[in-house]
Amino acid sequence: MIPENITLKAVLFDMDGVLFNSMPYHSEAWHTAMQQFNLDLSREEAYMHEGRTGSGTINIVYQRQYGKDATKEEIENIYQVKSKIFNSYPDPEPMPGALELLQKVKAAGLKIILVTGSGQRSLLDRLEHHYPGMFTPEMMVTAFDVKHGKPHPEPYLLGLEKGGIKANEAIVIENAPLGVESAVAAGIYTVAVNTGPIPDIVLLNAGANILFPSMSALADSWNSATKKG
Ligand code: CA
Repeated sequence: MIPENITLKAVLFDMDGVLFNSMPYHSEAWHTAMQQFNLDLSREEAYMHEGRTGSGTINIVYQRQYGKDATKEEIENIYQVKSKIFNSYPDPEPMPGALELLQKVKAAGLKIILVTGSGQRSLLDRLEHHYPGMFTPEMMVTAFDVKHGKPHPEPYLLGLEKGGIKANEAIVIENAPLGVESAVAAGIYTVAVNTGPIPDIVLLNAGANILFPSMSALADSWNSATKKG
């Protein structure tokens, strides 16, 4: 039930946890990599940091354990190990319901824009394979495009810019609290899909306007969910 003041022209999609069921692998990789450096980050906490840049997550753990930021070299080492572990896992599956939703969005004549904090080339390449014709490089914001990661509004503001649209002409689909914060800070109506272990209330407290329990549930109610009023 989107508000009257929205003239929908585009849908901005987050990637991990929305288009791919990759978060279980990310949280496991973070936990395991941190352990190798004697740093403590539980799998559950990794979900709370989803969307943050790698250095942002590493510094939170460093500050907690050592009261200081990690050096550039330490950040690079840890992030490299995390990426290596992540890439050793099987390919993440497309999120059930995501293709159906993309097809409905496309059929409605809306622009599809990707806004991800990911710098995983493998996943970006895989978009075209699983969602052919849905995403174009001009309509993507990735880790390589922004200075500030989520929860900063920059990624979603850049997504609007790339789409040539205003905040009241778009909605965002997000699964993570920091992603929701980023979208809300950019002034965009935000649909949360709770595809992970985080309680619904955390996503609602982050500012989500509406919440669905899965991408399939959102795809099923797309027509009524995007009706005004
Ligand atoms: Ca996500």
